[in-house]
Amino acid sequence: TYASRGWTGVHNMSVSASQALIMARLDGEGRLPLRVYNAFDVDAFEVAESRKFETDTVTNRAVKLYMDGALGSRGALLIAPYSDQPDTNGLSLLDTESLHDLMMKAKGADVQLAIHAIGDLANRHILETFEALGNGDELRWRIEHAQIFAPQDVARVGELGLIASMQPSHAIGDLKFAPSRLGLDRLAGAYAWQDMLAGGAVVAGGSDAPVEVGSPLIEFYAAVARQDLDGNAGEGWHPEQALSRDQALALFTSAAAFAAFQEDDLGTIEVGKIADFSVFDRDLMTIPAAEILDAQARMTIIGGEIVWQAAE
Ligand SMILES: [Zn+2]
Repeated sequence: TYASRGWTGVHNMSVSASQALIMARLDGEGRLPLRVYNAFDVDAFEVAESRKFETDTVTNRAVKLYMDGALGSRGALLIAPYSDQPDTNGLSLLDTESLHDLMMKAKGADVQLAIHAIGDLANRHILETFEALGNGDELRWRIEHAQIFAPQDVARVGELGLIASMQPSHAIGDLKFAPSRLGLDRLAGAYAWQDMLAGGAVVAGGSDAPVEVGSPLIEFYAAVARQDLDGNAGEGWHPEQALSRDQALALFTSAAAFAAFQEDDLGTIEVGKIADFSVFDRDLMTIPAAEILDAQARMTIIGGEIVWQAAE
């Protein structure tokens, strides 16, 4: 399915050790037509163990942690209470001491951390704990979702060398209820793709499948249009945070490769790199934004082999 949508690879979150074993087996049998980068559940912190099961296309290098819940259910951890429910500021799933301990463990084990954080307080906890750890800029640790920041915190992501792993479709879904949950002021630091890049952060793009649809075209459209699928945007949607086509493309290609330590092999079409790319039926870099959603994947090529092709 994912190859038929034009994905050449996935960064796969919250994997168990047994799933990694199955993937290695499938790949051995030639039945895994997709490049996979695995982030394990915290229970399976034995990533080193799983590295034995790596193949040409399956990489086991990360662990996913969870700082908070989601915005829709008021689980995102906020600095100030929810605007539409003042008796709560969300859910803390990991305190900063435990986070510190897990960070030390990951650093020692050469494991990449992919830390789920939605609310501005959850994100601040990562920034502060990570900063206290010292010289972490080579670790390439990722904040997963990185949705809401206090505006003064946005630039710290790039300064500290953290990667913002963001899903553009979240903005076009969440911005329908974000104004009531957060109030208009706090939206200045929400889904702040353009500010995140301006602060020097690497922003890697994802889809959050299977929570969201998992279509590269929806994600690309959301990143450049910052409007819902019908072309509507509401008050507080901050159209200035929308990305250019080149920026949006980088999210899903070169930045994604960097976020998986694979930029020497993947991320751009170049002599000497592995041939992973997909072909669409129109030029996504020039057509009107609304037309991006009508485009179709025609062919997906991984490692120089056609793994999927549309019927004529
Ligand atoms: Zn998550």
